[in-house]
Amino acid sequence: MTASHAQQDAMGETVTARLQAVRRSIADTCAASGRDSGAVTLVAVSKTHPAEAVEEALAAGQRVFGENRVQEAKGKFPDLKERFPDLELHLIGPLQTNKVKEAVALFDVIQTVDRPKLAEALASEMAKSGRRPRCLIEVNTGEEPQKAGIPPREVEAFLAACRDTWNLPVTGLMCIPPVDEEPAMHFALLAEMARRAGLPEVSMGMSGDYETAIRFGATHVRVGTAIFGARPYPAA
Ligand SMILES: *Cc1c(COP(=O)(O)O)cnc(C)c1O
Repeated sequence: MTASHAQQDAMGETVTARLQAVRRSIADTCAASGRDSGAVTLVAVSKTHPAEAVEEALAAGQRVFGENRVQEAKGKFPDLKERFPDLELHLIGPLQTNKVKEAVALFDVIQTVDRPKLAEALASEMAKSGRRPRCLIEVNTGEEPQKAGIPPREVEAFLAACRDTWNLPVTGLMCIPPVDEEPAMHFALLAEMARRAGLPEVSMGMSGDYETAIRFGATHVRVGTAIFGARPYPAA
């Protein structure tokens, strides 16, 4: 390591540089696939990383963040949201119904609406609190039995219920493809389902495959490791 490196905040420099590299790659991929780079929102996934790492990303202009646990997000983001009123926080992990109240209070987008009981609880809390975070339906595109999400063939009916029965502000779909399969066909399926349903937001793609997701129509990519580095401990 050179002397000039040693004098700098190593973590900060890394986050800023990595963020810039990811942004460049998003812009390049958009250009190569004929999409406007403004059509893709980078969700910086800060789970397991400290508030200082989030601050560094904020200083570099990042405003959209993703966390997978309500409790952890509550420890990091209330202060930051006060200081940065345009910060947008997305919940990208499973939501238990007993955490719905806290989630609705803190998050601006809930990407993981994955079952009727949760939709009902969200609707009830939104009515009580008056806060209406945007909702994405999580789709189990690989129909994996151990994975959360609505199976593709049930999405249309679930979406209708979310709107008509629960009056939820559903704006899109999200998926996490099976780890052992090519993600492209899952991305294509999700984008097509969103298009048919008239939903504008499509959340798909992580550090390893966000360029592919953009080529297949992602409007939101969820990128953690490529921005913040390896996680200090495994996320739940
Ligand atoms: C952790 C996580 C990500 C980010 O993963 P990386 O590989 O670190 O980019 C994206 N989406 C979800 C749902 C996650 O839990």
